[in-house]
Amino acid sequence: MADPKKFARFRDVMKEVNRKGAAIYKNPAGTQDLVIMSPYNIKYIHSYAQDSPFFLGLAKGDILGSECKNCHYRYATPRSHCMECGHETKWFRLPREGKVHSWTTCYFGGEEFLKETPFNLALVEFEGVDTLLLSRLKGAKEKDIFIGMKVRAQFRRPPRYLISDVSFVPAERGRSRK
Ligand SMILES: [Zn+2]
Repeated sequence: MADPKKFARFRDVMKEVNRKGAAIYKNPAGTQDLVIMSPYNIKYIHSYAQDSPFFLGLAKGDILGSECKNCHYRYATPRSHCMECGHETKWFRLPREGKVHSWTTCYFGGEEFLKETPFNLALVEFEGVDTLLLSRLKGAKEKDIFIGMKVRAQFRRPPRYLISDVSFVPAERGRSRK
């Protein structure tokens, strides 16, 4: 039987493996690597425990942050206890609008997101909040994204109770960088 087809780009290798179950990758290092399909699946019953209100909040269109009851440091993520002073926190509602603090384009990702590459991730900063939220930035081309760009939250309907239930889009369409 003939060898599986050979490709120089791994993207093409993946396509062929999806179609035929095997392909050969012409590795820039000079080797020819046989790549096969190896299905892998696991079901994990996961408890969010004390982080549960955060994910229930996303389902209602609220992003909940955590505020220290003692020093009032405000986290843009679920955090049961303060990293600054160790005291318990309470939930508070984050603004639905924020600004891009920094961002990156992902050309590779975990299994679930691989088919969506390339995509953009942003660290979003919120007025009056001391830490950042990492989230997907949608609806904007790389050339149009900039530090300080105003973004607003959008929520998946129906929710899947995952952090990806929230993502961000440009708050002001068509407005360019100053
Ligand atoms: Zn504190």
